[in-house]
Amino acid sequence: MIIAIKQGSPTEEVRLFAKSLEEKGVQVHFSEGVSQTVLGLVGDTAGIDAESLSANHLVEKVVRVQEPYKRANRKFHPDDSYVRVSTPIGGELRIGDGFFSVIAGPCSVENREQILGIAESVKESGAGFLRGGAFKPRTSPYSFQGLGVNGLELLLEAKKQTGLPIVTEIMDLNQLDLFGDIDIIQVGARNMQNFTLLKELGRCGKPILLKRGLSATINELLMSAEYVMAGGNENIILCERGIRTFETYTRNTLDISAIPALRRQSHLPVIVDPSHAAGLSWMVETLSKAAVAAGADGLIMEVHNNPEKALSDGEQSLNPSAFTNLMQTLKKYIELEGKKLRIEE
Ligand code: PEP
Ligand code: MN
Repeated sequence: MIIAIKQGSPTEEVRLFAKSLEEKGVQVHFSEGVSQTVLGLVGDTAGIDAESLSANHLVEKVVRVQEPYKRANRKFHPDDSYVRVSTPIGGELRIGDGFFSVIAGPCSVENREQILGIAESVKESGAGFLRGGAFKPRTSPYSFQGLGVNGLELLLEAKKQTGLPIVTEIMDLNQLDLFGDIDIIQVGARNMQNFTLLKELGRCGKPILLKRGLSATINELLMSAEYVMAGGNENIILCERGIRTFETYTRNTLDISAIPALRRQSHLPVIVDPSHAAGLSWMVETLSKAAVAAGADGLIMEVHNNPEKALSDGEQSLNPSAFTNLMQTLKKYIELEGKKLRIEE
């Protein structure tokens, strides 16, 4: 971090200011020119708030050289990390580490027959994980809000029946106790900056699927991952799910460049949600191929037994046969990237 000091600042005040920074655990190097003094901060600057420094009357400008995230940063962990999930039959699935993970299932769990049926079907087509929302964040309070606890129970029944690990969304801190048997806890786009929730998930040790907020920058997504990791939970999967732009043709705009950017900045596995990005089922295959080619470690997508009758997100949901075809096509692309589709060990 570099701090330019305002011209004419009293030397003694600048010295005391530098001392206060050293007390925060960094080294301060002085560069004194004819008209300008510049302080170079070296060491762990993650805990130093650039904005509050800028408010100091001695400070002209603050430039951050190093990213404010540390645990999520590739600089401190050069090798790719991966997330392990144990399967109910005693095996292990890895997200990252050369494996390509496909998480598939309906937007919402609607009833027993629906979730058990689709779980068998996505498994048959090669999905490694079952998704389904029990607690649903809906724009309208009058829309279907999810089956809640009953939805979680149905997901666990589907897990027992198929052996597929479960990915489902938590909306509030007070739901955490209900997630004991859930394999991967999803933090949805709308909760990406729910810092109280992130801190608590940092203490829980379970894999967290962290979705990028609707208008969050890559840096903000990584700072949210840092919240969970700072609490001691390093099992994070990042998810690009489209961001808000001026374009209205698609529900969101899939930011393909986020995949190489996240992989460069961070060691954490990155997956893509083409369903929420496009909002259109016919576009899911194309975006999925793009995600594989861009280096994603997996996909999460919506598949419904009967999209026309879905209680949420039917327009973007694939039907089972479209999902089977997509998986067939994707296999070739995944192999071309040198990755393997799912795996028990
Ligand atoms: C979902 O996965 O069903 C969902 C609500 O996703 P997002 O948070 O990305 O909108
Ligand atoms: Mn959805």
